[in-house]
Amino acid sequence: MHYGFHNSISGRRGYAAALDTAERLGTTAAQLFAKSPRSWRTRKLKPGEAEAFRDALAIGHVRRTAIHASYLVNLGAEGELWEKSVFSLADDLEKAALLGVDYVVVHPGSGSAERVREGALKALALAPAGPWLLLENVAGGGRKVGRRFEELAALIEGTPLGVTLDTCHAFAAGYPLHKDPAAVLDELDRTVGLERVPLVHFNDSVGAFASGVDHHANLGEGRIGQELAALLRDPRLSDKTFIMETPKAYDEQNLATFRRWAGIDQSSKTQ
Ligand SMILES: [Zn+2]
Ligand SMILES: [Zn+2]
Repeated sequence: MHYGFHNSISGRRGYAAALDTAERLGTTAAQLFAKSPRSWRTRKLKPGEAEAFRDALAIGHVRRTAIHASYLVNLGAEGELWEKSVFSLADDLEKAALLGVDYVVVHPGSGSAERVREGALKALALAPAGPWLLLENVAGGGRKVGRRFEELAALIEGTPLGVTLDTCHAFAAGYPLHKDPAAVLDELDRTVGLERVPLVHFNDSVGAFASGVDHHANLGEGRIGQELAALLRDPRLSDKTFIMETPKAYDEQNLATFRRWAGIDQSSKTQ
């Protein structure tokens, strides 16, 4: 099992800063934004930045990496917004290929599922091969695509796309992770298939069950609570990568909770 956090890329080292943070915490996975998540502007690589990232990967302990796409991306849109979304996602896929990043995660968007599928495949076609493009389940709201597992399953059928499970979003969408996490996994397996889900966003939820509210809480302190621990002990997820997108100031606390729940020795730095 690989686990870690969504880490910042600010500072002199740029993208490699996300790996530096992962190393400092003793984690073997990291997620980052390849550009500002609330802007359409792409971020140019600084000279030597990709090499620094690849070097840090090669000599360090981080084994799984992910880029989270921009929040502005809406693959379900029409017209210019759809075009911009496809190019923004293709840019992230290209960065991931250059950096040697394993996964690119995107929220499908709102509108038509067919449009989302077309957009995701177009972005893949525009970018060099390498990273695995994953559609994330969402908390809900409006005409958002990807609230239900069966919807994601239909979307990726016959494509190379995968899925990211966000536990906060699933709970907010009405999957009872606070009562029966094993049954939620059963349903994910029956619909999407766990072999198509390499990455879990492991977050508790501030919003209530089935509230549709996307607001992440520290592990064990939200409305899902202690039951979330069962996912870390479920053998079906033992080879998955877990990324916490919990409040940044509490990384050490969430890391300790994660390790305790997973039965990982706190004194061993990396495993
Ligand atoms: Zn996300
Ligand atoms: Zn979220």
